[in-house]
Amino acid sequence: MLQGKAALVTGSTSGIGLGIARALAAQGCAVMLNGFGDPGEIETIRADIERQHDVQVAYNGADLSRPDEIAALVAATAEQLGSLDILVNNAGIQHTAPVADFPAAMWDKIIAIMLTGAFHAIRHALPHMQAKGWGRIVNPSSVHGLVASVHKIAYVSAKHGIMGLTKTVALEMAGHGITCNAINPGFVRTELVQAQIDDRAQKIGASAEEAARDMLSEKQPSLDFVTPEQIGALCVFLCSDAAAQITGVPIPIDGGWTAQ
Ligand code: NAD
Repeated sequence: MLQGKAALVTGSTSGIGLGIARALAAQGCAVMLNGFGDPGEIETIRADIERQHDVQVAYNGADLSRPDEIAALVAATAEQLGSLDILVNNAGIQHTAPVADFPAAMWDKIIAIMLTGAFHAIRHALPHMQAKGWGRIVNPSSVHGLVASVHKIAYVSAKHGIMGLTKTVALEMAGHGITCNAINPGFVRTELVQAQIDDRAQKIGASAEEAARDMLSEKQPSLDFVTPEQIGALCVFLCSDAAAQITGVPIPIDGGWTAQ
């Protein structure tokens, strides 16, 4: 379905981004991977996706907190893959602390990577999409783009900010073949969430599995984690022709979290 297209997926060396990259590649889309990690492991992931789906897969380790590196990342994607048709602004980190104790440097870092980074990636990617009259921008926000939770001030603020950015880009690109939407996942058991599960296990003196169940029961009525594969499939749908008239909206995938 996406043969001949090229996608940049930021933060795709693990978790949700990797799930999205795999799902796009499975549809014949060339992919630029990005994110941090062990170089050997990243090369194994890259070569594995390339071999499995017979598509071009490249990697660029740009730091999404650095605007100059984002500009270079977008340029490298278009140059190495021949175009940039799909942009997935997925890179993200988490830090939890009460507002009064929240480290200011951590606020700056989270906003830089998750909100400002997406802005820069979009502004550099749009001319490539406009040249072809076709584009898809998918912003993995979060349920925390729609509702708040305690101790996540920077994350909740960045994810709410992404919703405004999504709507504005959608309006400016409406009628030009380019859509911009957000995906709003509930808990997905990735490294980012495992750290929260481990913290909770320590606090309540329980096993990681007990802490995971405790966390789900507080927020996610399905009592089950969303998977990176499910989010990848949703992203593929948003890139399809069937989704051409879906733009500027949040799409929760959250086991009922935001229905409450
Ligand atoms: P993860 O830790 O598995 O993946 C994060 C990715 O971002 C990794 O590839 C990492 O290397 C990359 N990254 C981090 N800082 C970066 C930087 N400065 N520059 C470039 N890349 C950077 O976590 P995840 O859970 O897969 O998170 C991915 C996205 O999904 C995040 O935006 C997160 O907020 C969002 N999300 C996660 C959940 C969840 O429950 N896990 C729920 C909703 C939304």
